[in-house]
Amino acid sequence: MKGLPTGSEFTAEPLSRLVDEFHKLPGIGPKMAARLAYHVLRLPEAEARSLAEAIIAVKEKIVLCPICQNLTDVTPCAICRNPERDQGIICVVEEPLDLLALERTGQYRGVYHVLHGALSPMEGIGPEDLKIKELLERLKSGQVREVILATNPNLEGEATAMYLQRLISPLGIKITSLARGLPVGADLEYADEVTLSRAIEGRREL
Ligand SMILES: [Zn+2]
Repeated sequence: MKGLPTGSEFTAEPLSRLVDEFHKLPGIGPKMAARLAYHVLRLPEAEARSLAEAIIAVKEKIVLCPICQNLTDVTPCAICRNPERDQGIICVVEEPLDLLALERTGQYRGVYHVLHGALSPMEGIGPEDLKIKELLERLKSGQVREVILATNPNLEGEATAMYLQRLISPLGIKITSLARGLPVGADLEYADEVTLSRAIEGRREL
């Protein structure tokens, strides 16, 4: 596979276009992009079509759950509509992948709220850019007993948790955060299941 030309060196336009598209993806350098494009080129027609259709389907069929704001193809999402989940506990996470990481632990029986980011003055991300308004609406229903602030243990995540704590405290709802033991500065998404399980079990009241 060595010595593969990169996108700009292709003469066949459809192939160089595919290389360029792969190159735009996170973590894909020019060599890997070329390798993937060649791979697609060699795929049987049906497999290549299936790949293309999967890409289109995520754009056409995935929406935000009107309750928890997680990505879903059914509304409400599978977690919000599950009668066995405790609607009285909401775990607030930054991203859908954080929710998946917590779900993988199999420990948590409450529901979630996905903020879709964290407060970051440096990047110009303010409260109105996150799904905070939607969270407060849910809390006003009076059914929620506990909010677990499970933002990432980094500067933005901590700032977001503090901001939310200030907003939620007056509502008289118990606020907890994940136990320490999560690596500082890390992403929840990458934490292993044991660490995350312990973090949920050992959550403390704020
Ligand atoms: Zn939902």
